Amino acid sequence: MTTAENPTWDTIEDVANSVRTCTKCRLHSSRTNAVPGDGSAVASILIVGEGPGFNEDQLGLPFVGRSGKLLDELLATVPLSREDVFITNVVKCRPPNNRDPLPDEVAACRPYLEFQMQRLNPKVIVTLGRHSLLRFYPEGKISNAHGKILRWRDRILLPLYHPAAGLRNLAIKQDLQKDVLMLPEALRESLRRTNTVSPVPKTGELQIQRANSTRKLSERSTVNRTLADDAVDQISEPNIGKETFEKEQGENQLGMF
Ligand code: URA
Ligand code: SF4
Repeated sequence: MTTAENPTWDTIEDVANSVRTCTKCRLHSSRTNAVPGDGSAVASILIVGEGPGFNEDQLGLPFVGRSGKLLDELLATVPLSREDVFITNVVKCRPPNNRDPLPDEVAACRPYLEFQMQRLNPKVIVTLGRHSLLRFYPEGKISNAHGKILRWRDRILLPLYHPAAGLRNLAIKQDLQKDVLMLPEALRESLRRTNTVSPVPKTGELQIQRANSTRKLSERSTVNRTLADDAVDQISEPNIGKETFEKEQGENQLGMF
């Protein structure tokens, strides 16, 4: 992606290098390490947290503390591992004392997440917590949206509660355990919508698709979108009626993970 703002980014590592030396908002002055994100560069699933905490700031890696452990446990039930997803945050530097990120900080950091989404081209974006949901749906309510398969631009969005909230509150943890089980269905829905694989893949085919994308990653064109795209998007539940799925997919596709 070549623009006046980021003349040199081509890969996920390029943008990570910019993040590590970024001084675009006040959060740079209190960080130990910026946390650009981590995981598979060909992931179908992008997980977006709110901002690094203490441990993440120390190590420069996302979700390495207690929240990260719960996130790993949740992913394992699907089952997915870190290697299957890419994990990043709305703001890449730790807000002091884990306060909420401020709107101007989210805005300053926006181009990094924007580029990561364009380059990774995930099928499903999972938001963790209220601030991550708000980055995509400024009017969104996490208490209403959690666990629902939503659309954002031409992707599927699955909002979840933040794992840190699950650590504090058993009812939220139980919601997280239930909601994460929507991930396979979210992925199926994205495959059905984009028609990238037709018919919906049997076990193993997704891997082939990923392997192809590995080769093609450097050739992939970035999707040029404007902020105006946000404005035309509405929270909408796509047609994921049970009968439609049963008819079109025949059998349970959990094995595709
Ligand atoms: N909480 C977040 O939102 N992000 C992290 O990386 C860690 C904890
Ligand atoms: Fe730069 Fe984002 Fe860190 Fe602010 S939070 S200094 S915009 S990388």
